[in-house]
Amino acid sequence: MIFVTGGAGYIGSHTCVELLNAGHQVTVFDNFSNSQPEALRRIERITGKQLQVIEGDIRNPAELKTALQTSGAQAVIHFAGLKAVGESEQQPLRYYENNVQGTLTLLQAMQSCAVKTIVFSSSATVYGIPQFLPYTEAHPLSATNTYGQTKLTVERMLQDLYRSDATWRIGILRYFNPVGAHASGLIGEDPQGLPNNLMPFVAQVAVGRREFLNVWGNDYDTPDGTGVRDYIHVVDLALGHLAALNRLQAQPQCMTVNLGTGIGYSVLDMVRAFEQACGKPIAFQFSPRRAGDIASYCADPKLAAEHTWRWQSQNPQGYSISH
Ligand code: NAD
Ligand code: UDP
Repeated sequence: MIFVTGGAGYIGSHTCVELLNAGHQVTVFDNFSNSQPEALRRIERITGKQLQVIEGDIRNPAELKTALQTSGAQAVIHFAGLKAVGESEQQPLRYYENNVQGTLTLLQAMQSCAVKTIVFSSSATVYGIPQFLPYTEAHPLSATNTYGQTKLTVERMLQDLYRSDATWRIGILRYFNPVGAHASGLIGEDPQGLPNNLMPFVAQVAVGRREFLNVWGNDYDTPDGTGVRDYIHVVDLALGHLAALNRLQAQPQCMTVNLGTGIGYSVLDMVRAFEQACGKPIAFQFSPRRAGDIASYCADPKLAAEHTWRWQSQNPQGYSISH
C-alpha cells in the first residue's frame, strides 16, 4: 500500500494513476486545501481501479498516525505542501508550518508506525543562483525565497534522519518545471485564482478565461530574450516516482535525483507549442522581468537515466522474473 500525501493535487493525481496502473494499492491523504475530491473520482475512472481516500492534514499527528495504521501503508510519497513562491514571501510562517512542520509531523508518525520509505517532492529552486549549468545534483544549494528554504530545510531533515538510522529508504526528487496533463483529458492542473506558473496561465488564455499573457522579460541573455526552463511532462514526472520506489525497494539509502529533461525551452517556444496544440493564437505582451527570476536553467538528468538503466538492465522483465 502506497500512502500518497497531497494525492489529489496536480502531480499527485497523475502519480496515483501510474501507481494504480502498475498494480499498487493507493491511499490518498489530502486536506483539499488546493485540490478537489473530484480529481480522485477521475483517477478511478481513468484506471478502473479504486483508491482509498482519507481527508486529513499532515500537521495533525493523530490523524496521520491513524491513517498510516488503518491503511496499512508500506511507503509514502509526500506531495502535500504549499508551492507559490510569491505567497511564501508574504506568509512565511504558513509555509514553514505546512511544508516543514507538516513534514516533520509526517516523519514522526512514520517512525512510530515503522514505515521507513519516503519519496519527497523537492524542487530545482534549491539550487538558487546558477554557479554552473546544467544543474547536477552536486551543484551548491541555496534558497532565494521562503518556499525554496522550506524545501531545503526538509531535504536536510531527511538527510539527518538517514544519518541517524540507515534503515530508512529516502528519495529526494528535485522537480524541474512540470507541464501537461493526462492524455485522457480527465485530470490536469487546476490552480485556484490567478495562476503563478506559465503553462496554466497560457492554457487559461487559450480558453478565454484570461485576455493575454504577460511575458516577464524579453531582454534576458537567451536566444529570444525570454526566460528558459526545463519543462518535464507531468506523466514522465509521475513515472519518476515509480522508478524511485523501485530503487528504494532494492536497498535502504538516501538518494537525491533531478527530474528534468536536460533541454531548455523559452517562454515564446512554449507559447508557440501551445498555439500549435490548441490551434488558436495566444495573445501576449512583453512586460518587465519578474523579481527573483533567473534567465535560464535546466537539469543534468544523467543520474535519473543511469538509475533507470541500471534497474531495467538488471531486471529486464521487471519483478516478474527473479534472479
Ligand atoms: P498541488 O497544490 O496541486 O498539490 C498539493 C496537494 O497537497 C493538494 O491536493 C493540497 O490540497 C494538498 N495539501 C496541501 N497542504 C496540505 C496539508 N497540510 N495536509 C494535507 N494535504 C495538503 O501541487 P503540485 O503541483 O501537485 O505539487 C506537489 C508537490 O510538488 C509540492 O510539494 C510542491 O512543492 C512540489 N513541487 C511542485 C512543482 C510545480 O511546479 N508544480 C515544482 C517543484 C516541486
Ligand atoms: N512566465 C511568464 N509569464 C507568466 C508566468 C511565467 O513570462 O505569467 C515566465 C517566467 O518568467 C519564467 C517561465 O515563464 O521564465 C517559467 O515560469 P514559472 O513560474 O512557470 O516557473 P519557474 O519560474 O518557477 O521555473
